[in-house]
Amino acid sequence: MPRTDIDWAKLGFGFSDVNCHIRYVWKDGAWGEPQMVKDPYITMHIGASCLHYGQECFEGMKAFRQKDGKVVIFRPDENAKRMYRTAQRCVMPPVPVEMFIDAAERLVRANEEFVPPYGTGGSLYLRPLLIGTGPQIGVAPAKEYTFIMMCMPVGAYYKGGIKPVRAVILDNWDRAAPHGMGDVKVGGNYAASLFAHEKAKHDGWPVELYLDAKTHTYVEEFSTSNFLGIKADGTYVTPDSCSVLPSVTNMSLKQCAADLGWKVECRPVPYEEIKEFVEVAACGTAVVVTPVWEITRGEEVIKISEPDSVGPHLQKLYDTVQGIQYGVLPDAHGWCHEVKI
Ligand SMILES: *Cc1c(COP(=O)(O)O)cnc(C)c1O
Repeated sequence: MPRTDIDWAKLGFGFSDVNCHIRYVWKDGAWGEPQMVKDPYITMHIGASCLHYGQECFEGMKAFRQKDGKVVIFRPDENAKRMYRTAQRCVMPPVPVEMFIDAAERLVRANEEFVPPYGTGGSLYLRPLLIGTGPQIGVAPAKEYTFIMMCMPVGAYYKGGIKPVRAVILDNWDRAAPHGMGDVKVGGNYAASLFAHEKAKHDGWPVELYLDAKTHTYVEEFSTSNFLGIKADGTYVTPDSCSVLPSVTNMSLKQCAADLGWKVECRPVPYEEIKEFVEVAACGTAVVVTPVWEITRGEEVIKISEPDSVGPHLQKLYDTVQGIQYGVLPDAHGWCHEVKI
């Protein structure tokens, strides 16, 4: 049962203490046994490869308490597969998909009282982390790794329903190069975008949109979320690029759009095409969809929609995904992974 000493309505998106996290160590070529650890601090060698050379990757996913009381994790297999690919790209021992899902189940079970009650709009955010913890000063993969999965209850991102934001394109900074690390979930991508993000925020734009690093002519994605646009005929368009992170939310929204009978296009999206969209959104696990009502690039300001209204397509997509997550709409594709408490 959910704890009664937490004000669930007041929860934001941030760290809070829970019962424990789960930890595994890889050495001598194999993953060790899971440990449930209460202490949120970690001791590691000062020569650890994650500290010096960024041998690090992470994931983000959510567990929901559904209407009928079941606790489910949304598509953990997709996060497991993505972390597998990211680990391979960073020459880290991949966490087997079954071990990843088992870790998520153990973690949720051990922290069940922190899964927010149904109806509060909250969820338990799960944060998997894989880091090189073996000392490595000559540049090479470390010989020891630690896989951690931690969790924290988070509130509904937007208390009074989804709210449109303004976005900016800053041509002086790129997020990810073609064939670089843009398509894998490494912390370095966030470090790379933080400067532009802080500048955008300071100048009044909550999110920044990136164009392709090579030519600055195609739309890629926001710093921490994918880009999607809706055409006047209801077509769902999202960029196809080797430097965009394959978002599980985008994948789910594309499927929902197709299920609703909308056309779905995943292809290069020229910057010039933005004007043709009647609705634009950023999408990711934290918020599902954030409508973008205006996009600024230098002197050019593209107005997509009214600042205070959410387009019907985005609203429908948001309601559909949330409906599946909270168990009020049928889970036709088996996305909700039940955790037996
Ligand atoms: C995590 C992430 C996203 C969103 O992915 P989801 O799986 O939908 O949460 C989008 N872009 C980047 C760069 C990311 O790191």
